[in-house]
Amino acid sequence: MNNTEKVHCLIIGSGPAGYTAAIYAARANLKPVLYQGLQPGGQLTITTEVENYPGYPNGIMGPQMMVDFEQQAQRMGADIRWGLATKVDFSERPFKVEIDEEHWIEADTVIVATGASAKWLGLESEERLNGHGVSACAVCDGFFFKNHEVAIVGAGDTACEEALYLSKLCTTVHMFVRRAEMRASKVMQARVLKTANIKVYFDTETLEVMGEHKVDSVRVLNNKTNEESIIPVKALFVAIGHQPNSDLFKGWLDMDDQGYLITQSGSSRTNRPGVFACGDVQDKIYRQAVSAAGSGCMAALDAERYLGSLE
Ligand code: NDP
Repeated sequence: MNNTEKVHCLIIGSGPAGYTAAIYAARANLKPVLYQGLQPGGQLTITTEVENYPGYPNGIMGPQMMVDFEQQAQRMGADIRWGLATKVDFSERPFKVEIDEEHWIEADTVIVATGASAKWLGLESEERLNGHGVSACAVCDGFFFKNHEVAIVGAGDTACEEALYLSKLCTTVHMFVRRAEMRASKVMQARVLKTANIKVYFDTETLEVMGEHKVDSVRVLNNKTNEESIIPVKALFVAIGHQPNSDLFKGWLDMDDQGYLITQSGSSRTNRPGVFACGDVQDKIYRQAVSAAGSGCMAALDAERYLGSLE
C-alpha cells in the first residue's frame, strides 16, 4: 500500500453532519481531515431557502448555509479537502480509506457522514423545475406553498407523513399513487384517507410537471382507464424514497435491508469500534439538517471518547 497518509480522525462527507463533526473534532484537537465527496455540501446545495434551521432568523439559502458550515469548520482548524472515498478496509485499526482511487489514508477513527440521496421520477420537467415548485422535502419547502393547492407523488410512509404535514398548510393535497394500494403502514394510510383535504388518486402515474418558470400543474395518467388529466397545483413533492450513500461500506458496516447504516441506540457507534456514522446515511426517519448536525456532534464526541479510551 504505497502513498499512504496517516491521520487521527477522518470524516467522509460534507453535509451538516460531516461539517458539524469536523467543527467538534477540530475543537477537541483531533486534527480532522474531511473529504467532501461528489457533492460538496450535500443535499442542502440543491434546496433553495432554509427557514427552519435555528440561528438564521431571516432564513438562509441552502448552498450558503453549507458554505458557512464549511468556513466554520475550517476556522476551527479542520482540513477540508476535495476528494471521494472510493474503497475502505475496516478489517483492523488503523482503518484504511482509499481516496479518488489514487491514494490511501490510514485513520485511527473514521466518521461516516455520506448522507442519502432523494429518488426522483426521472422526468425532464421535474429536473427543470427543481427548486421552482418541485421538491423532495415537504418539511423544508411546504411552507412556501401555504394556502395553495399542491401535489405529492409516492405511497410509502414518507409520502403519507409529508401529505399529512402539507394538509395542515395547504388547501388541497393531491396525492398520486401509482398502484391500486399504498405501501405505507396501515395506520398512516388510514390517517391520509380520512384527512378531508388530501385527495388520493390510485393507479395514477405522474407524466409531466408543467409550468415555464415555476410549477403550475401536473399531468397524470390513470393507468387503468388510460385517461390523462391536468391538475393545477403550485408545487409537486416527490416522496418516492431515499437511497442512503452506503454502498462503499457493504461488508464492513451493518446496514438494514434498505442500506441505512445501523448505529447503536443513543450513539453514533457502528458495529466496528472506532467507526462512527451520523446524518442521513443512518437516519431514515428525521432527515433534517438540524438533526443531521446534532448527530455529527455526537459522532465527534464519540470519536474523541474512543480515542481517549485507547490511550
Ligand atoms: P418506500 O420505499 O417505503 O416507498 C416509496 C414509495 O414510492 C412506494 O409506495 C413506491 O410505490 C413509490 N414509488 C417509487 N418509485 C415511484 C415512481 N417512479 N412513481 C411513483 N411512485 C413511486 O420509501 P419511504 O421513503 O416512504 O420509506 C422508507 C422507509 O422508511 C420505510 O421503511 C418506511 O416505513 C420508513 N419510514 C418510517 C417512518 C416512520 O416510522 N415514521 C417515516 C418515514 C419513513 P410502490 O409501492 O408502487 O412500489
